[in-house]
Amino acid sequence: MTIAVLWFRRDLRLQDHPALLAALDAADDVLPLFVLDDALRGPSGAPRLAFLYRCLSELEQRAPLRVLAGDPVELLPRIARETGAHSVHISSDHAPYGRARDERVAAALDVPLVATGSPYAVTPGQLTKDDGTAYRVYTPYAKAWSQRGVRSPAALPEEIAWTAGGLDSEGVPAEPDVSGIDLPPAGEQAGLARWAQFLEQGAQDYHDTRNIPGTDGTSRMSVYLKYGCVHPRTMLAQLPKGAGGEAVRREIVFRDFYADVLWHRPGSAREELQTQMQALEYDEGAAADRRFQAWATGTTGFPFVDAGMRQLLGEAWVHNRVRMVVGSFLCKDLHLHWRRGARHFMQHLRDGDLASNQQGWQWVAGTGTDPSPYFRVFNPVKQGQDYDRAGDYIRRWVPELRDVDGKAVHEPWTLPDGPPNGYPRPIVDHKAERAETLRRYAAVRQG
Ligand code: FAD
Repeated sequence: MTIAVLWFRRDLRLQDHPALLAALDAADDVLPLFVLDDALRGPSGAPRLAFLYRCLSELEQRAPLRVLAGDPVELLPRIARETGAHSVHISSDHAPYGRARDERVAAALDVPLVATGSPYAVTPGQLTKDDGTAYRVYTPYAKAWSQRGVRSPAALPEEIAWTAGGLDSEGVPAEPDVSGIDLPPAGEQAGLARWAQFLEQGAQDYHDTRNIPGTDGTSRMSVYLKYGCVHPRTMLAQLPKGAGGEAVRREIVFRDFYADVLWHRPGSAREELQTQMQALEYDEGAAADRRFQAWATGTTGFPFVDAGMRQLLGEAWVHNRVRMVVGSFLCKDLHLHWRRGARHFMQHLRDGDLASNQQGWQWVAGTGTDPSPYFRVFNPVKQGQDYDRAGDYIRRWVPELRDVDGKAVHEPWTLPDGPPNGYPRPIVDHKAERAETLRRYAAVRQG
């Protein structure tokens, strides 16, 4: 009897799983394994860890998943030796740490490490411009993506011959405290159910509803994509025809694009993609720290910004429009480095993903791919008035303002008695900070 190890990472599902099919082809029995690697667990915040553990528990119900803690470079060779496995199968990883880890694991193993499939519709690194260089702008990347096409979902195996290989499992660890955080149900079944619900109720109108944070107008699939509970190929294959489906497809292409950018430029996880922007002046010190705290706790006095930051703490998820607004506010109203905001998001988001997060932040900061023009500084009040017209989103997340009627909810400092219930006045003057931002950006562009 031959054994192949299937080393799960960001592919916590059984459907549409090319690496599982490759493992089944390679051996009589498949040993499902997950390694708890502290290099990845350390920087993950509580919501992401709790969600991951819940996904692992779901998988444990469906396969004899072995869960072991340790360094994959030491564990994988030992497991392969002890179980007599002939090969180890993975879905490829494209972020800087995962790539380096996989190279080291492959070198340490006496048997092949076989990568089949990736977490993306189009694997990072596969599309380049005619001159062989990487795309830096979304639109031409998306054109090349469409021309290339996406494979159909992989078939679900009729029967899977699992084995525990005589290996003890340490089991899924106890999850960190996430009381007070509203996490969606975890795992493949829950991800597929959410997707089916969105297809039935939201996908058709997504192009209209995707920018309204007060409605359930987006798929909320990001956390399932993050952990590979559902593959984007599965989603793409089921999208409805028409403007709604097309708009969802564009966002899934964005996810591929950002992973591609990170693959070509791993340093962009930390440094400005546009190198001249590394000279941009940021605020530091005690006053800057106080402003950061106000931002992080949703007490800036700008209701739309505060609603977003409180949604982050309450749901470990924030609507995309609001991510852009709170990001712009941190960079362009508070003059803090985008890395600070990105780190905070990675700690608190359930879908925290290095590629989408860092490139999303760089876009907002005007330092990344296809950046928002440096002179575009979101007006945090007008954004609320435009995208949360009735103020439902603000009232949902900022209870101090729940009883404020009408338009004043966007500018509670204009009420005769000022903001109610201890809600703060704005911590900055947007007009003045906008001018300051333009000065700083102009200095870099001229310098
Ligand atoms: P939908 O609107 O339903 O879109 C469907 C899918 O497309 C999403 O699940 C996601 O996988 C992808 N997608 C949508 N918008 C984007 C985008 N702008 N960039 C890349 N992929 C996108 N997304 C993450 O998954 N993880 C992050 O850590 C993350 N951090 C971000 C930080 C900032 C500052 C910004 C501006 C955006 C960030 N995004 C991130 C992108 C986007 O906000 C989320 O993917 C989206 O809000 C998730 O909600 P949804 O699943 O309902 O998306």
